[in-house]
Amino acid sequence: MSSTEPGDYQPLRPQPGALGEIFAPVAGFGVTLSSMFRPTVTEQYPRKKEPTQRRFHGRHQLNRYADGLEKCIGCELCAWACPADAIYVEGASNADLPENAGRQVKADDSGGAHMSPGERYGRVYQINYLRCIFCGLCIEACPTRALTMTNDFELAGNSRAGMIYEKQDLLAPLSEGMLAAPHPMVEGTTDTDYYSGDVLGPTAAQVAWVREARPDDETLDAAEAVVSGTAPAPTPRKHELRPDEGPGAAERSAGAAAVGSVRDDAGSTTGARSTSEPGSVGESDLTGLPSRTEVTA
Ligand code: SF4
Repeated sequence: MSSTEPGDYQPLRPQPGALGEIFAPVAGFGVTLSSMFRPTVTEQYPRKKEPTQRRFHGRHQLNRYADGLEKCIGCELCAWACPADAIYVEGASNADLPENAGRQVKADDSGGAHMSPGERYGRVYQINYLRCIFCGLCIEACPTRALTMTNDFELAGNSRAGMIYEKQDLLAPLSEGMLAAPHPMVEGTTDTDYYSGDVLGPTAAQVAWVREARPDDETLDAAEAVVSGTAPAPTPRKHELRPDEGPGAAERSAGAAAVGSVRDDAGSTTGARSTSEPGSVGESDLTGLPSRTEVTA
């Protein structure tokens, strides 16, 4: 067994010579002096908010289809995928909505009220931002692309309870022309048609249903303008299937062009499958972010 003698030590780096020894105490100032003439990198936050990187993982958003129905189906896969146990979801049946009381509503019944296409919707949705580590695994788990992440990083709060965001805090605001849920699905469609991106806006039957059920609904007039063709269809939301993807791609592409849909790559945050997905309000640029108040409204 060998032992190392003090005299055997060999430094790995070359040692300074006599001149280097003399200037060694002030050598560190060279870094300071050279930094003095570089441009400042101080962010003037919060007076000036710089956009984040496009794939920044910020506050979550629950997205909608173009006719206003919610994409979340309350499957709880995001909650199961969360490594920090930060998400709580309770699903419920669309047939159990108060608007359907006394009616026999099936999953594909276009006459029944729906919060989301298909059988179920997310009745309760909470994210505890004291626990969330913004890993994005929930986004990957979501089968309907209901859940995405914005680049809103201003998530401070005054209380622990206030850091638990409820569904109304996370739900994407209705775009101009969307019809507020609940209302029937587009007639003759299934939830698969919604997932495939075949629904590009509200229909006359949906508007008529809401006008009868909620004549004072504030979204009626804008939706009616879309149906009559006097207003463009609602801007497709981020993380929907692109018009050049999936079944019926050619028709969707033509339909999207006809209504002047805006689709770009801005603000994608969900890894490989979202590299070319359309942008939407508040997801592409920090300066355009809706505040929490706006989202809640
Ligand atoms: S956000 Fe997606 S994964 Fe989570 S419950 Fe809704 S549909 Fe399921």
